[in-house]
Amino acid sequence: MKQRILKGIPAAPGISVGKAFLFDTHEITQIIKRPILEEAVIGEVKRFKETLNKTRNEILKIKDKISKEIGAEHGEIFNAHLLVLEDSMLIDEVITRVKKEHLSAEYVFQEVLKKYIKAFTRIDDEYLKERMSDINDVGRRILKNLIGAKHDSLSELKVPVIVIAYDLSPSDTASMHKDKVTAFATDIGGRTSHTAIMAKSLEIPAVVGLEEITSSVKNGDTVIVDGNNGLVIIHPAQETIRDYEHQKKGFEERERSLFGLRDLPAETPDGHKVEIVANIEMPEEVPSIIYHGAQGIGLYRTEYFYMNRADLPTEEEHYEAYKSVAQKMAPHSVIIRTLDLGGDKFLSHLEVPHEMNPFLGWRAIRFCLARPDIFKVQLRAILKASAHGNLKVMYPMISGLEELRQANAILKEVKEELKSKNTPFDDNIQVGVMIEIPSAAIISDLLAKEVDFFSIGTNDLIQYSIAVDRVNEKIAYLYEPTHPGVLRLIKRIIENGHNAGIWVGICGEMAGEPELVPILLGLGMNEFSMSSALIPEIKRIIRSLSMAQAKEIAERALSFSTGREVEEFAMAKLKEILPEAELK
Ligand code: PEP
Ligand code: MG
Repeated sequence: MKQRILKGIPAAPGISVGKAFLFDTHEITQIIKRPILEEAVIGEVKRFKETLNKTRNEILKIKDKISKEIGAEHGEIFNAHLLVLEDSMLIDEVITRVKKEHLSAEYVFQEVLKKYIKAFTRIDDEYLKERMSDINDVGRRILKNLIGAKHDSLSELKVPVIVIAYDLSPSDTASMHKDKVTAFATDIGGRTSHTAIMAKSLEIPAVVGLEEITSSVKNGDTVIVDGNNGLVIIHPAQETIRDYEHQKKGFEERERSLFGLRDLPAETPDGHKVEIVANIEMPEEVPSIIYHGAQGIGLYRTEYFYMNRADLPTEEEHYEAYKSVAQKMAPHSVIIRTLDLGGDKFLSHLEVPHEMNPFLGWRAIRFCLARPDIFKVQLRAILKASAHGNLKVMYPMISGLEELRQANAILKEVKEELKSKNTPFDDNIQVGVMIEIPSAAIISDLLAKEVDFFSIGTNDLIQYSIAVDRVNEKIAYLYEPTHPGVLRLIKRIIENGHNAGIWVGICGEMAGEPELVPILLGLGMNEFSMSSALIPEIKRIIRSLSMAQAKEIAERALSFSTGREVEEFAMAKLKEILPEAELK
C-alpha cells in the first residue's frame, strides 16, 4: 500500500505510530420503523422519559468524574449536554409523535434528532455548530439507552490504538486513557474546539480538521499522527516509520535531558537574565507548567471561561479560578488577560452579531468597553484575587490611547467600589497592554507612558501588519514572523518600552520558535511566554549564548531585506549555538 499524507490542524503536540481504531461517532445507527400498539403508547412515553432520566444521571456522573479528575471547568462542558436533555421542544415533539403516529420512541427520536441536526448544519455560526456536536453527542447516548445498546467507550480499550473519528465529543475525549489512546485524528474540528483543548490538557498527540481521515483509513491500518506539524501518515513506508520513531525517541530523550534545566534561571553565560513564563487557557494547566519550569504565567487566556456554556460566568467563578492560580504560582506573577472574545475564538451566547470581518470586528477590548457590565465582573474578580498572590492585568487588542484610558477608568471605578466596601486587593496591581495591532506598535512610545508593561502578541501583530489571516491555510506562506516589517515593529516596541522604563514581553507563538529566540533576546526582550512544553528548549538556548552574541545576531537579522533571508540566517545561527539540536 502506498504511503499517503493528510494535512490537518495540529491540535496537541507529540508523535505516535500505531494501529488505527475507527471510532464511530458520526452516524446514528439506522433504526427500523417499529409500529407499536395503541395500548402500548403510554408505556412507550414512560420508557422515553425514564431513558431521559437515565441519560441525565449518566451525564451527571461523567461530569462529576471529569470535574474531579481534570477540573471543574472541563466538567462545565457537560452543562450544555444537560440542557439538551431539558429541551422541551425536542422532547415534546417526540412524545407528541409517539402518541399520534404509534411508532417506537427510538424511531421517532431518531427522526426528530436528524431534523434538528440538519437544521443546525445549515446555519453558518460557529457557536451553533458547537451546539450541534452537543446535541449529536447526547442524542447518541439517548438512542443507545433506548435500544439498550452498550456504549462504545474509549475507556474500555484493551490495547493501545490511534483513534480515528469523524469528530470526538468532550465525553469521548475525556474518557480516553493516555496509555490506550496514544493519539487521535478527526475529520472535523479546529484548534479551539473542546476536543483540541482537552487533548492538550491530557497530553495526547492530536490532529483535527483532516476532512477525509475516516474515509481514508481502515481498522488496523498503520498510521502515524504527527501532532507537532498537523500531519497523519497512512500506510507509512518503513523508512518513514523509522524516521518518526527516531524523531520520537529524540524528542523523549531531549525532554529528559532538558528536565535538568527546570530549576535553573533563564540566564545567558554573561549574566543577562530574562523571564520564561507560560501561556495557559485553564487553571488545571498549572501543575504542568510548574513541572516544565515556568517562572510565572505571561498570558492567561480567560475567554475559555465564557465559552461552551449557556450563561455568563459569575464573579465568584472568576474569582475562585484566579485566586487558585495566583496561590499556586506565588510568588511568581500571573498575567490575566481580560476577555479576548472574537476573531477565531468561537462565540458564546453573548449576542455578538455575525460579522464580515470578525478579526477586525467588535471583539476583545472593544466588546468589553461597550459592555462594562460584563467587563466589571471580570475586573472585580481579578482585583479581589490579587489579594492572594502576584496578579497583573492585561488588556487585549488595544489600538490607541483612548481605549487604554477608558479601560483604566473602568478599572479605577471598580477599585473605588472595592475600597468603599473595604474589600482587600492589590491597589498597585500592574496593568499592561498587549501590543498586537500595528497602530499600537507605532505609538508604543505614547502607550508606554501609561502602562506598567507590554506583551507583544505576535500572532495578531503578524496577521494585521502583513494583512494575512492567521487561520487561512491558502496564504499561510505569507505569515512570516521574520518579515523585516514585523522585526522592525518588534524592535520599535521594545525600544519605546525601555525608553519609558517598562519591561517588554512576548506571548505570541513566536516566543517559542527556537531559531527566533536569539534575535528576540538580542533586541532586548525581557520576558518570553509560551506553551509550557516549549519552555525547557527555549531556556536551553538562552543559557547557551551570550547577550553580546544575541545583540550581534539581532543586528544582522535586521539588516536583511526579506523574511526568508532572516529565517535562513536564524536557522544557521541556531545550529551554531546548539549543534546537536534537532532542527525542523
Ligand atoms: C497573540 O495575538 O499573539 C496572542 C498571544 O493572543 P491570541 O493568540 O490569544 O490572539
Ligand atoms: Mg491576540
